[in-house]
Amino acid sequence: MAKATFSIGGVHPHDSKISRECAIEQLPLAPTVYISVAQHIGAPSVPCVAVGDKVKVGQVIAEPGGFVGAFIHSSVSGTVKSIAPRADLAGRASIHIEIAVEGDEWLESIDRSDTLVTAIPDDAKAIVDKIRLGGVVGLGGATFPTHVKLSPPPGSKCERVIINGCECEPYLTSDFRTLLEKGEQVVVGAALLQKAMGGVPCTIAIEENKPEAIAHIREVIGKLGYKDMDVMVMKMMYPQGGEKQLIDAVMHRQVGSGALPISVGAVVQNVATALAVYDAVQKGKPIIDNSVTVTGECFPKQANLLVRVGTPLQYIIDYLGGIPADAAKIISGGPMMGRAVANLQAATVKGTGALLFLTEKQTRRAPETNCIRCGCCADACPMGLEPFLLNKLSKAADWEACEANAAQDCIECGCCLYSCPAHIPLLDNIRVGKGFALNAIRARAAAAKAAAEAAKAAEAAKAASPVSSSEAEKSKK
Ligand code: SF4
Ligand code: SF4
Repeated sequence: MAKATFSIGGVHPHDSKISRECAIEQLPLAPTVYISVAQHIGAPSVPCVAVGDKVKVGQVIAEPGGFVGAFIHSSVSGTVKSIAPRADLAGRASIHIEIAVEGDEWLESIDRSDTLVTAIPDDAKAIVDKIRLGGVVGLGGATFPTHVKLSPPPGSKCERVIINGCECEPYLTSDFRTLLEKGEQVVVGAALLQKAMGGVPCTIAIEENKPEAIAHIREVIGKLGYKDMDVMVMKMMYPQGGEKQLIDAVMHRQVGSGALPISVGAVVQNVATALAVYDAVQKGKPIIDNSVTVTGECFPKQANLLVRVGTPLQYIIDYLGGIPADAAKIISGGPMMGRAVANLQAATVKGTGALLFLTEKQTRRAPETNCIRCGCCADACPMGLEPFLLNKLSKAADWEACEANAAQDCIECGCCLYSCPAHIPLLDNIRVGKGFALNAIRARAAAAKAAAEAAKAAEAAKAASPVSSSEAEKSKK
């Protein structure tokens, strides 16, 4: 039977899932954690603890800074030592709450038992609220606050929930292990998401290279008996787990430029997020930890570790035996979409899914040559863009033309770069053009909003002014 896949572009990198047999293992607690208040898309959270405060595991330590924001909870028990700027793994500074670990005392409201809670609450709004209170964000990389995604704007309606179990990036295996080891919880999480969206059908999409996970999740769905939930086997193709690509593959619908998945009736959440939803709603456990794949051919001990949020990267690496002598680069995430780690003192965030060690040979780029106009990059682009053109426009700093040619739609998947026989750093250059295009779009939207608000305020002032009202009356006479 043909496997489902998206309709344009895509590439076939080797999957390199060398850590697939590594069961998820609890990482011992670090002596100190550093929890960033800017670890999701949207406004940074606002600390609500002070230096010297004692905190427990699961306690709120920062509150949402806006509608698109998230609660942040302490991942450990101990004493708040500082609230100060600290560099993240890319070297950018953001406020971190430093907590010295003392014991491991959890809030009593968190159910730490192994009992599987399968009953789905009737109240959809209450489910979404528990997700909000649990600080749940998309753990597939985007870290968009989940409760916002589950609150469709007026006029939009969800028709299907898609659970993204593709894990199409090479090397990553934490979602695969989660499906195998926490499959029941993921399926209950999917049922909660179904309920939150009004009882719509749910598809759990898993790539064909994970047959054990496909069989296990099918068995769990059968055992738990949730209605309108199925597993769809996806073709091994990168970027199968891209949100727009997955919607295309599952629902045969295209999300337009700048539009959200809900515009075509879809809500997509990844496997780790479904687990976090289960934890938040059924067990009262906010996001305080996440599974991190630590891998790479040069890394002596492959692992999938359950890591408390805010754990320093150096601590994780030391636990596994230190940096191998032949490692030249560490990537946070996979080789296609991950970002280079610039700072080993940085701490994990909710969205940290992997640390990948690469050798100098694996990272070496072949010398760039001239474009031979082969079109491979355009054939590979899953967004239907023309990477060779965007590259040229971006290098020429022609930002208007970048926007006109939809640089803002680039999902930074790296398929163009992977396909280019001339070894042109297409993604690096297109990313710059995309940034300028998005800035221009946001600036226009902000200006339009400000103008509309000013016009509304002027209108209100006019209506409220007695002078202008009486003058208006006179002029009518
Ligand atoms: S990185 Fe952007 S331009 Fe390149 S293939 Fe992916 S979506 Fe297309
Ligand atoms: S793949 Fe490389 S060489 Fe081929 S058209 Fe694109 S930029 Fe040019």
